Amino acid sequence: MVTSSRLAVVSGGATGIGREIASTFAAHGDRVVIIGRRAELLRQASRDINQTVGSNLVIPLVADLTDPAQVQHAADHITELGKVDVLVNNAGAIITPPDSEGLDALAASWRRDLDTNLITAVLLTNALLGQLTRPGGRLIMISSAAAQRGGAGTHSAGSYAAAKAALHGWALGLARQLGKDGITVNVLAPGYIQDTDIFHGQDTPDFVAKKIADTLVGRPGTPADVAAAITYIASAGAGYLTGQIIGLNGGAVLGR
Ligand code: NDP
Repeated sequence: MVTSSRLAVVSGGATGIGREIASTFAAHGDRVVIIGRRAELLRQASRDINQTVGSNLVIPLVADLTDPAQVQHAADHITELGKVDVLVNNAGAIITPPDSEGLDALAASWRRDLDTNLITAVLLTNALLGQLTRPGGRLIMISSAAAQRGGAGTHSAGSYAAAKAALHGWALGLARQLGKDGITVNVLAPGYIQDTDIFHGQDTPDFVAKKIADTLVGRPGTPADVAAAITYIASAGAGYLTGQIIGLNGGAVLGR
């Protein structure tokens, strides 16, 4: 069995990008808490990864991270496991645009987007802040290239891009606050990443072709690309990397 003293927390770790990050951490011997709302999916992902690595390193934890009480409950449970060396705020979703016109529907849609893509990270981070390893803790937000170049039409009235961009300013402030404690804070902003659940089947061949055409390397990103970047940002060797918004988009933000 590979052993490591690190404890990592990955929100949204049962699917897509988060699952790949959790698998990669576990493959390196880290204990990993994965959090999401769907219990069976979390259990299955934990079973699968644990079977692959041959050890019970992945721990499923059910919580809706938009709900302060559920976040506190999850944080209490994590605290019993020890200090948190790495927190990856990966949970997020593309919120369906409002299905009716009018400001009430617009406000509800924007609030849902901000709740899902910003408040989840704010609550989990604050609940675990005192529990982060000092020095050496790694705090990472998963944003999006949408925050850097504007959201595509599938994103509700720009609220996804705006919610992700809000992570940036917040994370930079945290980096200033936590640097003296030896904790790094960084944002990874991926471009189009295939093989995740986020597009709910709306990533048609035309959509994918356009996303690939946007890149300079002529291919979509993969969850493994993201996990490789996170592996470095979370590593002990990355202690001088903090307060950065790191794009991972095949050059797509340069535009074509
Ligand atoms: P997935 O839909 O596969 O993963 C999103 C995860 O977030 C799910 O496991 C989901 O679990 C969890 N989640 C969503 N809302 C909540 C909540 N309220 N509480 C707890 N967990 C929640 O998509 P991806 O893997 O693609 O997305 C991961 C991150 O990467 C997201 O933040 C996304 O915005 C970002 N991203 C993705 C890109 C892509 O092209 N795929 C590009 C740029 C950024 P559950 O539903 O069970 O709660």
